[in-house]
Amino acid sequence: MQHISALSNVKVEKRVISERPRLLSLYAEPPQQELTLDEFEVVSLDRLQLLRSIDVLKTKGGTEGEHAFNHQLYELEKKYLLSNREFSHRMNEVERDQVSHFILRLAYCRTEELRRWFLGQECSLMKYRLDSLSDEERASFMLSNGMDFDPVSNEEKNSRKDKLIDLAGVTSVSIIKTTFYKVPFQQALSLVSSRSVYLEKGFAYVPLQRLVSIIVTRFRMQLSRALAEAANSFDIVGSDHRIGPLLKNMNKQFIGNDFTKTNQSIDKLSPDKIELAAEVNMPLCMKNLHSNLKREHKLKHWGRLQYGLFLKGAGLDLEGAQQFWESHFTKLISHDQFVKSYAYSFRHMYGKEGARKNYTPYSCMKIIMGTPPETGAFHGCPYRHMPDNQLSSLLSSLKLSTPDVSEIAALAKSSNYQIACQRHFDVTHPGHLNNPELKSDAVANHPNLWFQTSVNYHKLKNGKPINTVSPSSGTGANDSNSASTTAVGEAVKEEAGTEGMKMET
Ligand code: SF4
Repeated sequence: MQHISALSNVKVEKRVISERPRLLSLYAEPPQQELTLDEFEVVSLDRLQLLRSIDVLKTKGGTEGEHAFNHQLYELEKKYLLSNREFSHRMNEVERDQVSHFILRLAYCRTEELRRWFLGQECSLMKYRLDSLSDEERASFMLSNGMDFDPVSNEEKNSRKDKLIDLAGVTSVSIIKTTFYKVPFQQALSLVSSRSVYLEKGFAYVPLQRLVSIIVTRFRMQLSRALAEAANSFDIVGSDHRIGPLLKNMNKQFIGNDFTKTNQSIDKLSPDKIELAAEVNMPLCMKNLHSNLKREHKLKHWGRLQYGLFLKGAGLDLEGAQQFWESHFTKLISHDQFVKSYAYSFRHMYGKEGARKNYTPYSCMKIIMGTPPETGAFHGCPYRHMPDNQLSSLLSSLKLSTPDVSEIAALAKSSNYQIACQRHFDVTHPGHLNNPELKSDAVANHPNLWFQTSVNYHKLKNGKPINTVSPSSGTGANDSNSASTTAVGEAVKEEAGTEGMKMET
């Protein structure tokens, strides 16, 4: 068994406060844990699913701290961190929590955008865990993590009773049992700005139950610093051939159907149906590639890969692909030139040449985080890569209403690319959420999921049975972990491979 010492130096932190809060940690020191490459991948993808699910919950309007939100996090944490794995006897849940946090910290340290996303989800997880503690457990956690704020004596509290009542939910009855702490106001800025605490001589008087936001702020600062430090040394870790590729591709992982089994689960797509499919069923990235292919009779390297693999995942077989691409390209070049310059690369895409890999279509994260389109190229995600005015006119050309265009463009402008894309699906598939069979609330994780869900939507509308589509990474609702991680592992290798494919530009 191949083992790696994934993370250097210190022992795994095992702070047992009570049964539930065992996972609570500020992750001050990395674990020194031996794990196999399989374990490395499984624990990191489990946490990735957890963090993405948290992101989806928030995107759907979940409010942190509320009972319903915390209950869903409880279920998610149980599913992704606390449930048994084959190797549970070698690594308990505290160790898995520690190891997976540090792996993802490495994977998400590389860019500002990745760091911001990771920080946001980890802080939500931390807040949920702190909310789950009793006051005693929280006080104990603070003490053991060097947050030894001065408690306010009863005498002091009584003398300021009038100032403290009605702040942060403290009432004339609850104040008797409430413990207050004096916290330097710089560490309680969010509470100060919301006027939730009493200020005196540079100290905020914070009731114990409101210390959660202070602990989360401290965690955020520490993690932010740690991510910046990790970014400085990422080149060394990333060059490790065993874990480097997984770390570099982690954020592009789509955890769900990899859309390779076109014969089993997806309808066959023939060249003559592509035009209608582009108009009715494709997300904006693929519509854009299709319309530019039609106009220019060619696409550059990344555009051919993105659109070609998408069509393959949508059910177009190799013969159909050759026919489709040739029909467009031969408006500019001869049949012989097409065969000489391009036919090989399409066979390669279908695993019939070279390494004969079954290359998978790109997920949204891979497209969004991938190489931006240069002049004259049309690949990428329009919400991420297109200038604002161009995106607005593209959306307007789809006969969307002006308010819908403005809303979608505004979402894209505020960097909510996938939410903008989901909104495009919402407005073009009215009432889709009324049919739970569709599982259509997270289609903007994969262009093929968007496509297949749209196809199914129209089938159901016409009273026909639908094909099943595995859920996207966001919800993690139906996927078995072993199955999904296997698919992802293959997808990483294969997708990385396509980047090396030689195709004429
Ligand atoms: Fe395409 Fe995904 Fe961007 Fe939507 S979010 S346009 S499906 S890459």
